Amino acid sequence: MKAQVLNKYDDDLTASSWVDMENVPDPKIEKSSDVIVRIGGAGVCRTDLHIIEGVWRVATDPTGTGLLPLIMGHENAGWVEEIGSEVEGLKVGDPVIVHPKITGGTCIACRRGHDMHGENGSFPGVDCNGGYAEALKTSVRNIVKLPQTLIPKEVAAYSDAGLTAYRAAKKASRHLLPGETCVVIGSGGLGHIAIQVLRAMCAADIIVVDPSDLALSLAESCGVDGLVKADGNEVSKVLELTKGRGAEAVLDFVAERGTTSKGLAMTRDMGSYYVIGYGEDINVSAFEMVTTEKNIIGNLVGTWAELTELMSLADKGKVHLATQEYSLANANQALQDLNNGKIKGRAVLVP
Ligand code: ZN
Repeated sequence: MKAQVLNKYDDDLTASSWVDMENVPDPKIEKSSDVIVRIGGAGVCRTDLHIIEGVWRVATDPTGTGLLPLIMGHENAGWVEEIGSEVEGLKVGDPVIVHPKITGGTCIACRRGHDMHGENGSFPGVDCNGGYAEALKTSVRNIVKLPQTLIPKEVAAYSDAGLTAYRAAKKASRHLLPGETCVVIGSGGLGHIAIQVLRAMCAADIIVVDPSDLALSLAESCGVDGLVKADGNEVSKVLELTKGRGAEAVLDFVAERGTTSKGLAMTRDMGSYYVIGYGEDINVSAFEMVTTEKNIIGNLVGTWAELTELMSLADKGKVHLATQEYSLANANQALQDLNNGKIKGRAVLVP
């Protein structure tokens, strides 16, 4: 099959191309629970840029020699192409979305449904071959069958970007009351989904902060109560909009270039600051944590069950993923466009 392969890291993301189109062996069923999915679409994620620049090396490639060549792509949807002998409830041709983490299913975390914290898992596209290709091997445990209304390439990026946004927005929606405020920092591929999930699941006011007019216009089309251009004065503008107190929840989809200190400053006392993006350290004194009783909450993708919840929202038309389609052959262009902030919503590679 054809695949886009990462053969070397590029620490400062300055190379003109990062992945190479190659002919590679087709994935094969090895375990009786394996499923081969013919890719309908693979989302292009900022994590892929972080993989290229080597941010993940400490975790996935500590010796610097073992992981590459790697087929990236952890946001996959398509059609069942082949199933292992013990797979039930799936047939060839079923449209599916793939939860990004392959879990064992028998440890305590898996049995409690905390898929992302299961032991001995793998994460195709990050620590083994993913979906920048014509086909992908996964496990029956990862498969969510798509409702008739949903088309694989249009929903592929829900499997990580959408799911991550959903989990954070769901956590916030559980405590946000009418009349309260949620700030969303960053209205790109994840943020615009979070806005729609918040809209569907709670009645709080939503304020969106972003430096990009493109992202703010996307946020506006999702239905928000306030738009704040991140021009250096965003903290005071949010405080102005919240009567000087800050927001009960702040969802930070950026978490770099200074947004963590600004995000915490936009969070009111006893409010919750959700970290979803990653790229810098959070600096906060123990004194401030004690006196403000603010909560800082990490968010790691989401569970298989949450992916089914998100598909229900999508099936009902409550969330819509803005996508920009690229052919698999144009993977480098998609990655460059993401790196240059030129994508409205989410880039998706279609083989
Ligand atoms: Zn991703």
